[in-house]
Amino acid sequence: MSTLQAIRGMNDILPEASPVWQYLEGQIKTVLGQYGYREIRMPVVEPTALFKRGVGEHTDIVEKEMYTFDDRGGDSLTLRPEGTAGCVRAALQHGLLHNQIQRLWYSGAMFRYERPQKGRYRQFHQIGAEVFGVATPDIDAELILVSARLLNNLGLGDHVTLNLNTLGSSEARGRYRKALVDYLETVKEQLDEDSQNRLYSNPLRILDSKSESTQKLLDSAPKFDAYLDDESRMHFQSLCTRLDSAGVRYTVNPRLVRGLDYYSQTVFEWITDSLGAQGTVCGGGRYDGLVPMLGGKPTPAAGFALGVERLLLMLETLNKIPAEVFETVDAYLIMAGDLAETQGLALAETLRTEVGGLRLISHCGGGSFKSQMKKADKSGARWALILGEDEASGSQVTVKSLRDDAPQQTLAQGELANWLMNQYGSQSQHAVTHAQS
Ligand code: ATP
Ligand code: MG
Repeated sequence: MSTLQAIRGMNDILPEASPVWQYLEGQIKTVLGQYGYREIRMPVVEPTALFKRGVGEHTDIVEKEMYTFDDRGGDSLTLRPEGTAGCVRAALQHGLLHNQIQRLWYSGAMFRYERPQKGRYRQFHQIGAEVFGVATPDIDAELILVSARLLNNLGLGDHVTLNLNTLGSSEARGRYRKALVDYLETVKEQLDEDSQNRLYSNPLRILDSKSESTQKLLDSAPKFDAYLDDESRMHFQSLCTRLDSAGVRYTVNPRLVRGLDYYSQTVFEWITDSLGAQGTVCGGGRYDGLVPMLGGKPTPAAGFALGVERLLLMLETLNKIPAEVFETVDAYLIMAGDLAETQGLALAETLRTEVGGLRLISHCGGGSFKSQMKKADKSGARWALILGEDEASGSQVTVKSLRDDAPQQTLAQGELANWLMNQYGSQSQHAVTHAQS
């Protein structure tokens, strides 16, 4: 019988890979916590109408990328393609938006029916941050600083650039949209096929068309700057001033529009050239119109989402994963003989209680000393703790370093917890913080 395979574009994350995921997620959660963001967890499945209304009927996501199905009761459900719409739905449903500022974050799997390739999957992961209740550009700046800090902490700061733009008010965008369509109609035949299809449904998206000939035509198109309303202009200038004073470098890219309908005013993307075509690792902006669109009172809102797989690819490609991330075991307990096995079980429990953060594998399944020693080596542990018959009868334990040639030593079992704690003190920073956490 043939074995079943995972669905194309949906990946297993195996035990060898999960330490890097945990490292990345841990770093990001730490930074979000530093700014007072609190976690929210939403269901993976939502009513289809949420995304049609929230993301927009004429976006790539809704037109061709959603996993939509009828459940057994006949309701149309969709696997979430992004997190913002569900976050707003949850915040409205639970009354989180009345007269208050909410700083939220979420993390989890998203689903889009796209062509799988490097950095583009059908199940992928995002970590997102959303802020509700702040209309001023200070929060736009904060969100950008949060994203900048976590890229820096991961060692990726020198390999990304920040693209920034404003989409203005919806009135300004409407006027510009009309001018843009009027111009593009005059060159319609020369546009690439995608752009022709978008001409009336989502013309602003044509601005970030990947087609070179379309980009050439856009050089003579009307510029948004001439249509921008004063309020949005001031908002954007104030954001830029704040970023300047915080030392965040950025490129103003007038053709940055982003793929979702809900954005207004500020939009931004962190882009890298170290991943080939899938170069956007983080995208975000302001979306003041979304809460009312989903039935709430007008509420200013802004946020961003990071592509976890793309950040992981960057960490790997650029060799930015600290070696200790892969050190997931500290000690491996080897036992030979009945007495040793009985003592060992109790000793291991005591050590786990007394040595905070200790990661200790107790050997199970018997076998010769030699084969246990092999398993200890393979586990990646720093120390083998050996309980042979002699040690057991003398209530002792032998400690052997598996990473260097330090001579092995025999201690009283009662001293081992202290000995291990002292070792933590002389180890790498990672082990120290790990032991404290
Ligand atoms: P792209 O232009 O690459 O399709 P997008 O504009 O559709 O990206 P967003 O909806 O803004 O992406 O999602 C935020 C981030 O999530 C992206 O910047 C990217 O890092 C990541 N992402 C989006 N789609 C995928 C996917 N199919 N596989 C892996 N990561 C993805
Ligand atoms: Mg996309």
